[in-house]
Amino acid sequence: MAKDIPYKTYLSEKEIPRKWYNVTADMPNKPQPPLHPGTKQPAQASDFQAIFPDALIAQEMSPQRYIDIPEEVSELYRLYRPSPMCRAYMLEKALGTPAHIYYKYEGNNPSGSHKLNTSIPQAYYNKQQGLKRLATETGAGQWGTALSVACALFGLGCSVYMVRVSYEQKPYRRIVMQTYGADVTPSPSNKTNAGRAILAKDPDCPGSLGIAISEAVEDAASHDDTNYSLGSVLNHVLLHQSVIGEEALLQFEKIGEYPDIVIGCCGGGSNFGGTMSPFLRENLTKGKKTRLIAVEPTACPSLTRGRFTYDFGDASGYTPLMPMYTLGNGFIPSKIHAGGLRYHADSPIISQLYKDKLIEAQAVGQKSVFEAAMMFALHEIIIPAPESAHAIRTAIDEALKCKKTGEEKVIMFTLSGHGNFDMTAYDMYLSGKMDNEGVSEEVLQKGFGTIPKL
Ligand SMILES: *Cc1c(COP(=O)(O)O)cnc(C)c1O
Repeated sequence: MAKDIPYKTYLSEKEIPRKWYNVTADMPNKPQPPLHPGTKQPAQASDFQAIFPDALIAQEMSPQRYIDIPEEVSELYRLYRPSPMCRAYMLEKALGTPAHIYYKYEGNNPSGSHKLNTSIPQAYYNKQQGLKRLATETGAGQWGTALSVACALFGLGCSVYMVRVSYEQKPYRRIVMQTYGADVTPSPSNKTNAGRAILAKDPDCPGSLGIAISEAVEDAASHDDTNYSLGSVLNHVLLHQSVIGEEALLQFEKIGEYPDIVIGCCGGGSNFGGTMSPFLRENLTKGKKTRLIAVEPTACPSLTRGRFTYDFGDASGYTPLMPMYTLGNGFIPSKIHAGGLRYHADSPIISQLYKDKLIEAQAVGQKSVFEAAMMFALHEIIIPAPESAHAIRTAIDEALKCKKTGEEKVIMFTLSGHGNFDMTAYDMYLSGKMDNEGVSEEVLQKGFGTIPKL
């Protein structure tokens, strides 16, 4: 079958973008500033110095449209970038759709996800400032793995507080991190005050992301040579991920098509934000009309059912208050398998754009997500991460709409990672034990009750 558009469109290493794009520069309404958790006044750069290096704090607050990617970071991006833009011919055929479906595959690196795009620059800037070690939390393990790889590249120590249930259930993830030299501690642990306080009350506590964040932040704040690192939500993380969308634009130029719809799964918002922001720039400055769709689980519907307000980023109230769509910092979603999409809120950038109707959002159920994942695995042969499969679900739904109308729309989504470590989830699906988890109004109201009053 001859195709005029290749299955995969690559760029050369020389074409990897040399600048990150800061979408806040073009946003008609900028995100409101974070507030100090104690004084409730706008946070100052100095409030972050105990845990972040100056360069990242500057990026977090920068009004600059483009920021140069340091030479050393560019060099390391070349280890695994550019990522291919793939035409999903086999999936299109199986669906019988006239739509052109493309996916940008970010799972083709040792961390298995897009998270290496930000862990490398974060490790770089910390190394530059003379830090010796980074501390972080991990739930399912992707972020901990990405940071372990980056720290190994720069000779930094890496301490990962891993939610205890994952630590016990996902030994392979732990061993991968240890292989890259990280020290991995099940959280809650007796290494920190936060962990000890919880263990005193409940020695068998299974842990949570909120507790692990508190432990990692405390570790960083109490050691001069150690900083904290976050894998999503913050402005500088979305900035680093813009490399995905910038490459995608170049690839579409080569292909000779332009997407009508761009889709990404959305937990904290970093892979969706990084994918869509260059396309949003084209919408805002060049009159393009691409629809930009964030996809979240019905079990954790922060955009589609959340409230736009100031809330904490963690469960203990250590972090600044941020203006976000949130379900409440005390909201605990059911144990769905897309661990990376279980965050109670969304990045301030994504939240403001959604409020201003410049992006759209959809929530999809877990079982329908795995149906889409299976279809993708069988036809495109990559087993997708459960998180990424949320984007596949919406891409398939849009392609099926085209089948009805006969429209040849161009649909692109980011495949944020592979699912090779998510076999328990696939096992649940294959044995018929999965359903479309939702949230009752009562549980939502309980979550909203944990949002602080200003
Ligand atoms: C962490 C993760 C996500 C969710 O995080 P975002 O910041 O919303 O991108 C999605 N997919 C994969 C594969 C992940 O590892």
